[in-house]
Amino acid sequence: MDTVIPRQCLAVFDYDGTTADTAAPSPNGVTVTAAYSYALMEMFGVQDLLEEIGGLQNRTPRELIEDIVAGDRHLRLRTCGRRYFETHRDRLWAMLPTSRNRRPRHSGLIDTLTETLVRVKLSYLLDEIGHAWPKPFDGVLDTFEAMRRDGTAAAIVSSGHECFIRKSFEFWGVPCPNVLLTDDDCRAYDIDPKPNAGLIDLMLALSHRYRTSAAPILQKRNIIGHFGDCEIKDGGLAANAGVPFFWFNRANRKPRVSLPENTVVFSDWRTVSDGVLT
Ligand SMILES: [Mg+2]
Repeated sequence: MDTVIPRQCLAVFDYDGTTADTAAPSPNGVTVTAAYSYALMEMFGVQDLLEEIGGLQNRTPRELIEDIVAGDRHLRLRTCGRRYFETHRDRLWAMLPTSRNRRPRHSGLIDTLTETLVRVKLSYLLDEIGHAWPKPFDGVLDTFEAMRRDGTAAAIVSSGHECFIRKSFEFWGVPCPNVLLTDDDCRAYDIDPKPNAGLIDLMLALSHRYRTSAAPILQKRNIIGHFGDCEIKDGGLAANAGVPFFWFNRANRKPRVSLPENTVVFSDWRTVSDGVLT
């Protein structure tokens, strides 16, 4: 890709499927999808519940819970989920930092079950993170490093979780971008997920949170684009935010929707890091 990244800009990255290959199984055979499947089975006592609601489809924990409690068996599932939460709340609530345990604005069953699902899912995933899993895609860390050297700040906007992302960067041996906006923030601030451009606004509004060189760059709001693997959620976010979309299309597949006007397609991060470096 013939892209030279200018200085004093912000590049926004998706995490799952863009930075890290979390769809590949861990050495113990766990994937993000499998962790959701186990977590739902544990909470609701129903085998194949994830398949029943159409699979993960890039949905957030809240979107999954909303679909589950809207289904035919919702009364039994609500009872089951609530009972699970009441039995395990102390253990589960100790898993995430207190700042992330902020009481949701509309505290109700959906919020409770969403917070529970996040923690049960993470209980399956966090111990899987190590040198072998998840792997960063070839060239993506070089891109981060090249951008850092060029004075470009990297941000991650993800429907994943901060503890997972930070732990994976620790094993990769490179600094995690300080500017992180994840599903933890969406839940805490009660904000819709991708493709909601409000995520970018929230990230910029929180620039004071990032006590690094990234803060003045964030305040300039000079965004070179959003890099993501999902043309619907990531492409939609880029289009809604009015920034270029860099589509990581590893399998060279046909887009499922028409791509935003300002789209650059690439299938290999090494072409991006080379472009940045030259
Ligand atoms: Mg993704």
